[in-house]
Amino acid sequence: MTAETPELSVKEITDSMQDPSRKDIALIEKAFAFAKKAHEGQRRFSGEPYFNHVYATGKNLADFGMDSTTIAAGFLHDTLEDACVDEQDLKKEFGDEIVFLVKGVTKLGKLRYRGLDRHIESLRKLFIATAKDIRVLIIKLADRLHNVSTLEGHPKQAKRKRIAQETLELYAPLADRLGMGRLKGMLEDYAFPHVFEEEFDTVHAMVQDRDADHKKHLEKFHRSFLKELAKHGMKNIKTSYRVKHHYSLWKKLKRYDMDIDKIYDLTALRVIVPTLEDCYRILGIIHGSWHPLPGRIKDYIALPKPNGYQSLHTTIFTGDGGIVEIQIRTKQMHHEAEFGIASHFAYKEGFFSRFTGQSRKVLDVSKKMKWISQLLDLQEQMKENDGEFIKNMKMNFFEDRVFVFTPNGDPIDLPKGATPIDLAYVVHSDLGDHMAGAKVNGKLVNLKYVLQNDDIVEITTKDSCHPTPKWLESCITPVAQRKVKYYLQKQKESAE
Ligand code: MN
Repeated sequence: MTAETPELSVKEITDSMQDPSRKDIALIEKAFAFAKKAHEGQRRFSGEPYFNHVYATGKNLADFGMDSTTIAAGFLHDTLEDACVDEQDLKKEFGDEIVFLVKGVTKLGKLRYRGLDRHIESLRKLFIATAKDIRVLIIKLADRLHNVSTLEGHPKQAKRKRIAQETLELYAPLADRLGMGRLKGMLEDYAFPHVFEEEFDTVHAMVQDRDADHKKHLEKFHRSFLKELAKHGMKNIKTSYRVKHHYSLWKKLKRYDMDIDKIYDLTALRVIVPTLEDCYRILGIIHGSWHPLPGRIKDYIALPKPNGYQSLHTTIFTGDGGIVEIQIRTKQMHHEAEFGIASHFAYKEGFFSRFTGQSRKVLDVSKKMKWISQLLDLQEQMKENDGEFIKNMKMNFFEDRVFVFTPNGDPIDLPKGATPIDLAYVVHSDLGDHMAGAKVNGKLVNLKYVLQNDDIVEITTKDSCHPTPKWLESCITPVAQRKVKYYLQKQKESAE
């Protein structure tokens, strides 16, 4: 039934990849043909061929910049469960790696979603598979992106809402954690109207209403900005408009009394420059000609966000009554902000070599994505009780974080409400077990002190200092709690 899906071509996918090898292309073609045959005759709720869904999943993965193995696994992700392909047959055709990925996605299963707290079993599976290979999660996200973008085709309203809600509560935050900004925005905007119908309409109307006026200021500013750049001899600068996604706008509006006039980044001007130095030069040029709004200059290049996001932000008065936000970054930073962890799969020669000589903070993927190693920790704790698992997971992935620094300037990312004891144990067990006190921004603080963004924290130690039962009331992270308890238990045993 090839006539059914004439528009789906495997070439479109391989053409969009960065220098695929002949082996890459052969693998993708093989998976495409296999999946097409496996799903032959199957249809989605909308009536379209089921193959459209797995094709879209593979295409999404190619768009994220993933490698050929992941794209192939994307085509095949529903063959075990929905097309009843035998696991051994799949293994014979595609090998262990692809079978692992497909099984990882399949295992996440089709459990009914009733909110994070009641979703423990499938979350466990997700985290176990993801801890072993992050690509399982990325395939799941590509799969979800297509499902949530085609929700209209689903006949049951309750099910549409459940899928959309799960997307907002679970998958979009995970995409954000992976630094995949574009994906996060798309997931949220597709899901938004299915969960909050009225709110979506309100936000949509507000944007329409405000947009024309805002654009007028923005375009006028844009023209003078380009003139100013030319005057300073700046070349190879690309500019574009970034329109804020509806869902993130709504979340922000809720913090600003639903007053859209207080939102300055409804549409922002995005400036892409060749080098890191250019970013700061452009910022200087802008501030030399337009007044910045106090308190709104953000240097996420020197201090990246916990998910790796880098950019300079400033908001200026245009001079004719308008206010405009400008975001300045290099092409590389832009690519990473859009694709996050997937951008590390895209470059064959390796992320590290490519960035040598650039900011040291861009270099260390593992440091930036610390939570990936935390996943491994979580896996360990899954042997323990559900309550602890859920608490830990929520803290690590879904709640707000604070970003503090060691005296050397190393960033440490902690859940909101964390204290110096939490920080000490996140850095090293020994540091925690011998902690004597803590200085924050040069001043001694109580061990109960709640860390704030950008605090510089110094932990002092003494061999004779040790955890006391009181410490359990002064730390919130499961890791610190566990280690303090472990220490106290050991003390008790050796005293007996
Ligand atoms: Mn699927």
